[in-house]
Amino acid sequence: MNELIDFDDDLSEKDIEKSEIENELLEDAILQLLTAVGENPKREGLKYTPKRVARMYSELLSGYHIDPNAMVNGALFDITYDEMVLVRDIEFYSLCEHHILPFMGRVHVAYIPDGKVIGLSKIPRIVDMYARRLQVQERMTRQVADFLRDLLKPQGVAVVVEAVHLCSMMRGVKKHDARMTTSAMHGAFRANLATRQEFLDNISRGASPLQI
Ligand SMILES: [Zn+2]
Repeated sequence: MNELIDFDDDLSEKDIEKSEIENELLEDAILQLLTAVGENPKREGLKYTPKRVARMYSELLSGYHIDPNAMVNGALFDITYDEMVLVRDIEFYSLCEHHILPFMGRVHVAYIPDGKVIGLSKIPRIVDMYARRLQVQERMTRQVADFLRDLLKPQGVAVVVEAVHLCSMMRGVKKHDARMTTSAMHGAFRANLATRQEFLDNISRGASPLQI
């Protein structure tokens, strides 16, 4: 299998039919939303809004339709390297499941291989697969860590997510709570303080403050 094949675009006819039905449902829902807030959905500026928003949500929530096994297929390599592999500052955008408002920020991923590594370009795509769903930050963090643990059976895996939540910021509840950091650690990162510290030092080194 070639690593360069874009599996996300590989939709079957059944998938396309299903997504058309989903889009129609979404368009109807947005139309109702516009009416419910007292708008006139027929006015010039809103005429195409249901269609646009439906298409937007299909993109922002595309993570439900990605087959993770197909996505990583061909990008796993046997190797004897057993030092920490770190990918930091992976940008992500997600939607909180409580308010369907964006939360976004950065993900840092580290693992210590045990005979198997994954192509580096796949890690941001794994993050995207989980980010492009209705999420809570804690669960997204854990899903990325669990997925890599199950896939690579590494000596350890660690994931830290730093994010700001528009639902906190826009709704004006204590703004300093809008920024949140979550982490999930397995194996050596959980058992070994020095390993965990090395990871945390690495991701804080030269880190610029999270901005939106
Ligand atoms: Zn929220």
